Amino acid sequence: MERIQGLHHITAVASDPQANIDFYVEVLGQRLVKTTVNFDDPGTYHLYYGDEVGTPGTALTFFPWRGMHRGRVGAGETSAMAYAIPKASLGWWIDHLMARHITFEGPIKRFGDSVLRFQDPDGMVLELVASDDPATIQHWADGPIPEEHALRGFHSVTLLLNEVTPSAEVLVDQLGYEFVGQEDDRYRFRAASNDRGLYIDIRHAPDAARGAFGAGSIHHIAFRTVDDTEQLEYLDKLRAAGLQVTTVQDRQYFHSIYFREPGGVLYEVATDEPGFTADESVAELGSSLKLPEWYEPRRAEIEAKLATIERKSFKPAN
Ligand code: ZN
Repeated sequence: MERIQGLHHITAVASDPQANIDFYVEVLGQRLVKTTVNFDDPGTYHLYYGDEVGTPGTALTFFPWRGMHRGRVGAGETSAMAYAIPKASLGWWIDHLMARHITFEGPIKRFGDSVLRFQDPDGMVLELVASDDPATIQHWADGPIPEEHALRGFHSVTLLLNEVTPSAEVLVDQLGYEFVGQEDDRYRFRAASNDRGLYIDIRHAPDAARGAFGAGSIHHIAFRTVDDTEQLEYLDKLRAAGLQVTTVQDRQYFHSIYFREPGGVLYEVATDEPGFTADESVAELGSSLKLPEWYEPRRAEIEAKLATIERKSFKPAN
């Protein structure tokens, strides 16, 4: 079993599918690579954004529950997620956010990198970290952001926790992360590879109240595992360490196991395969509603419940 190679995807909650699409596609230049439904609640979309093909380490997914009340960030959850941008693109992104009237904080310095901090339409905290760490992505050439400035997949997530040690032990002992340093109340851990989504930061907030779940909350974060065999090895290892891990769930584009780490954050371990081209071609990604075969007989009923959306999938011809 290899050490975890980094983040696979991040799943969060939104309140309006169209506002979510407009922001992630038009402002951040992420491609809508899959339109499907929440498999546990098929009257709600599950929207996936990423690079051109939704490479692991670029995939951000949302459950847009219409009218969902807003969450409140607190302890026991992922309190921010960060994309990497090239170091030389910091000024370009500042101009881009200002031109879109998006209020941001920063740039602030964190572990030597410049960081911009802002919120998505539901108040989820997003950061752009200007970093020259290598990150290979498959650029979405039809998207609105020039390749030289495009997001380079995830840089990190920040977990807000009352206690550091129990959560750090799971990262290090169970998932193979390495502690790389501390800055103020922030402890940084690094995954084994040298590419996207390498860092987990723990912010130590001993007195913070628990978060309240809602729109803008990050529901869970998923770690990459290479295949089903390795995933089962992780399942056994995590259970042997006393963690309550689910059985393997078929998520159509990957297979998943879930567990809550000691600080309260929901973790998933997801396989890289089969990926988003399992049921549509690269050119077609995201362009129509995909349903797993067990929901196909209910397609008409499901489509009737879903809001009409404009996918903004292709570059406007201006
Ligand atoms: Zn997930």
